[in-house]
Amino acid sequence: MTQPHLSDDDLQLAAAAAPLPAAAAAHLPGCPRCQAQAAAYRQLFAAAAHLPPPAFAFDLAAAVLAQLPRPRPAFPWVLVAVAVPVLGVVGAFLALFGDVLGQVLHGLSYGLGAGLGVVAAFLVAGQCLELLARHRRQMRLLAFS
Ligand SMILES: [Zn+2]
Repeated sequence: MTQPHLSDDDLQLAAAAAPLPAAAAAHLPGCPRCQAQAAAYRQLFAAAAHLPPPAFAFDLAAAVLAQLPRPRPAFPWVLVAVAVPVLGVVGAFLALFGDVLGQVLHGLSYGLGAGLGVVAAFLVAGQCLELLARHRRQMRLLAFS
């Protein structure tokens, strides 16, 4: 018996009838001390398997569920709040000056591109605000405050 005694991990593997490392497998049959410790682990595992599940004085599932983020509608309301006034202004502008604008824009495609760029910038800004608000809400939920 030149090998050292089995580690706790190896003793637990032996108790669970799991494959042991070669040195441990060679040591165990000749060592009454390790066999006794493995038998003690075997009895411990058997006793633990028959324990009733833990019971809490409170509803654990309800407490955990209360901490989880609530499902929210995926619709970006901030984007709508920005886009509706922008589209209203654009619509009113086109209704009032559509005929004049059409005549002017025949030769001024640059102006139309700039207008579309402004509208796109408003939409992107609205989306960024929505993402920022969502990020802040999620960070608050993660802090459990
Ligand atoms: Zn031993």
